[in-house]
Amino acid sequence: MSASQRPSPISATVDFDAQGVQHGFLKLPISIDTSAWGAVMIPITVVANGEGPTALLTGGNHGDEYEGITSLLKLASTLKAEDVRGRVIIVPMMNTPAAEAGKRTSPLDGGNLNRSFPGDPNGGVTSQIADYFNRVLVPMCDVALDLHSGGRTLDIVPFAAAHRLDDFAQESASLAGAVAFGAPYAMMMFELDATKLYDTAVESQGKTFVTTELGGGGTSTPESLAVTERGVRNFLIHYGLLKTGLIEGEVKAPNEPMIYVDMPDASCYVQSEHSGLLELTLTLGDRVEQGDVIARIYDMTRTGAEPVEYRAQRDGVLIARRFPAKVGMGDTIAVVAEVVESLERGHSLSAPNPAEAPSSAPNPAEAHSSAPKLAE
Ligand code: ZN
Repeated sequence: MSASQRPSPISATVDFDAQGVQHGFLKLPISIDTSAWGAVMIPITVVANGEGPTALLTGGNHGDEYEGITSLLKLASTLKAEDVRGRVIIVPMMNTPAAEAGKRTSPLDGGNLNRSFPGDPNGGVTSQIADYFNRVLVPMCDVALDLHSGGRTLDIVPFAAAHRLDDFAQESASLAGAVAFGAPYAMMMFELDATKLYDTAVESQGKTFVTTELGGGGTSTPESLAVTERGVRNFLIHYGLLKTGLIEGEVKAPNEPMIYVDMPDASCYVQSEHSGLLELTLTLGDRVEQGDVIARIYDMTRTGAEPVEYRAQRDGVLIARRFPAKVGMGDTIAVVAEVVESLERGHSLSAPNPAEAPSSAPNPAEAHSSAPKLAE
């Protein structure tokens, strides 16, 4: 924390040191046309029971990602103190104004919360929320889980992910949580330009951190909620926060074997250079080979024109796709990730540890430099 920064303007109506179940708000003063002396009210639940670690569970970092929001609203109203060992802090909608508007970003200042860290107590609403998490909530926690999905414009296979970190023990602890989450897919993400992500704010404080993508399309399904709810429970069990025997006390594995995927470089992404009507030829989870046609884009202004074909730039599995059928310039149409046997260092087929790579080898950092970030 910078000594020059004033305290956060956000105040909590819950007592983070109290035992038991508390439902309350994080209150951020605002002064707008509809409320001169108003406040943004961010719902929060704290469930504490004796000694143990603290978990920070978050959804709604983007307001249109409902798998996490719905799952955490359900958990907040059902989790009992006697089920918990330690403390579970639940914020189902980090960017509450965005969630209330059904949008990815805040209607108050246009802010994308996950591009606003570390935040500023004197900044806009979104930056003030980021600052509160960065300086107040994250320091309280030992482990953090952030629930994302594709929102209105993407659909993504369900996965939990960790990042390559300088601290190998921290990376290993995070990866173990991502695998324990038990989504159908697990991913190791390698990101360079991550300075404004919540992920980075948490990891830079030495915390164990797991992020997820759990569906999309601006909705939820029974299947996506089941994966999310099971994953949150698995996460809490893995890190010792749920008492064995009261809630199902063993990490539950998915029905199918987990698939490990890696995104080694920008060739995973297929981005549109045309506007028009999108036809995807693949379903999420389908295997593809380099050169396969994965999408066609049709000119909607005339009949009789040949569609533009887009092809996979690498072998792999389709892990994300554009959700709306209308597509514009620069939109991501599809993401093809590489299937790997293990996510442990030294096993990845495509993302060697830079420290182990011979100096004559291509620099992995360069290979990643143009890759858009999936940690949405
Ligand atoms: Zn997101």
